[in-house]
Amino acid sequence: MLSTMQDAPLSIAQLLVHGSTVHGDAEVVTWTDSGPRRRNYAEVGRRCAALAHALRGLGITGDQRVATFMWNNAEHLEAYLAIPSMGAVLHTLNIRLFPEQLIHVANHAEDQVIIVDPTLIPLLTPHLPALTTVRHIIVTGDSTAGFEAPEGVQVHAYETLIADQPTTFDWPEVDERSAAAMCYTSGTTGDPKGVAYSHRSIYLHSMQVCMTDGPALAQGDRTLAVVPQFHAMSWGLPYAAFMIGASLIMPDRFLQPAPLAELIAAERPTFAAAVPTIWQGLHLYLEEHPQDISFMKEVLIGGSAVPPALMHAFENEHGVRVLHAWGMTETSPLGSVARPPAGVEGDERWRYRYTQGRFSASVRARIVDDAGNVVPNDGTSIGELEVRGPWITGSYYGVDAPDKFDDGWLRTGDVGSITPDGYLTLTDRTKDIIKSGGEWISSVDLENAVMGHPDVLEAAVIGVPDEKWDERPLVAVVLREGSTTGVDELREFLSDKVAKWQLPENWTVISEVPKTSVGKFDKKRLRSQFQEGALD
Ligand code: ADP
Repeated sequence: MLSTMQDAPLSIAQLLVHGSTVHGDAEVVTWTDSGPRRRNYAEVGRRCAALAHALRGLGITGDQRVATFMWNNAEHLEAYLAIPSMGAVLHTLNIRLFPEQLIHVANHAEDQVIIVDPTLIPLLTPHLPALTTVRHIIVTGDSTAGFEAPEGVQVHAYETLIADQPTTFDWPEVDERSAAAMCYTSGTTGDPKGVAYSHRSIYLHSMQVCMTDGPALAQGDRTLAVVPQFHAMSWGLPYAAFMIGASLIMPDRFLQPAPLAELIAAERPTFAAAVPTIWQGLHLYLEEHPQDISFMKEVLIGGSAVPPALMHAFENEHGVRVLHAWGMTETSPLGSVARPPAGVEGDERWRYRYTQGRFSASVRARIVDDAGNVVPNDGTSIGELEVRGPWITGSYYGVDAPDKFDDGWLRTGDVGSITPDGYLTLTDRTKDIIKSGGEWISSVDLENAVMGHPDVLEAAVIGVPDEKWDERPLVAVVLREGSTTGVDELREFLSDKVAKWQLPENWTVISEVPKTSVGKFDKKRLRSQFQEGALD
């Protein structure tokens, strides 16, 4: 029997119309050299219509791709909403990709238009001649001064382009399964591969971002989206904020601790999201320049494991609760969120908060061992995490990657276990796990333990070849300025925290752990530095 329910497609246009009317007073704040620039959602709605008309005028039809090469700001939000709503596909280009990767992804996606921020022009222009499908460049702001376009490419100023356009648009009804936006993986472990999100998947994912037992974004929240809009859709925050009328605070290019602290003081966000390295930087800055940030009731941290020491520092020293979450570009990205079960009180809550958390009802998860068998969720059986659900990708755009899927499940490349009550604990990525004498050593566990030492700023652990044990851990550690702590002391510090056979004998003190294009520890680079002898 079929249901009697209406078959109403879920769409970005619906979010756009709802947010810009019902929540017309919510605002998007963009940080600039001279403080905040404000625009309310009603105005965003009108500008989205004008942008859609302008793009039609440039010949954008059907599901053509319109790319962005931008920081987090109001215009990027407009692109997020207008492009999918008109039926086209938004492609967020990662501004920190290596040139060959950038060229590869823009050509692979067949981007027709690129919207670029003026401050990013120098990063983009050298590669334009290699971008074979791009016909138009739109520079945000009201000037294209200094922009030299290659032949066949026209350059427009965003404000001039939308200035005389109508401020309403008859948004087409699109198939909810069609692509709304695409994002390439940041290529930490291989070539970037494209993930195409559908209208339906983004809509459902946005609802999850607002679920009380998820990130719990709510109407009236002031949401500081530090996680870039080119990194897994800023973890879904822009769409979710528009859905429920939370305001957005966009840092643009001001991502260093000092301007971030200034922005936080001025705009008083209630919720914020970024990878651990951003929060680590902010925490250190606040030690030297104390200020109240306790109005941020919660910060969502994911992208890599959050060191427990960082969680405690935010809670104890700043009165800010850290919400640990796991996800991937391929999972929209929200997979699991670490909220303790109801009824668990006091210090017992930490046990759950350290984990990567529980999956939502929409996302199924299982652990599969080396032999391909699904192992029980008993909290101890370890294997690769596989996931399946309405906002999990089932393939990559235009490439076959059979090794990434297992009978309809996405193979995450992450290794861990799940407890009977559903809490995921990741020990490593398959590529990072250290195999020592036939046993596994978790690089993440070692990193978390070392980063618990008060003199340690950062610690990244990689496996290095060893004649006797095949592989042994090497700890690359960054110490606080002026610290006299030695390697022996750090080893001693670890001695009651990890099993004796796991205690690393290889240490190197470095000035900074190399980071990926989205701010995570870059172990691929660390490994090549080791091979080049740069870590001795
Ligand atoms: P990339 O693969 O280039 O790093 P993604 O942002 O898609 O780009 O990264 C997804 C990966 O990040 C996951 O597969 C996992 O390895 C890691 N990750 C994300 N969140 C966490 C977390 N909370 N704890 C540990 N690892 C995490």
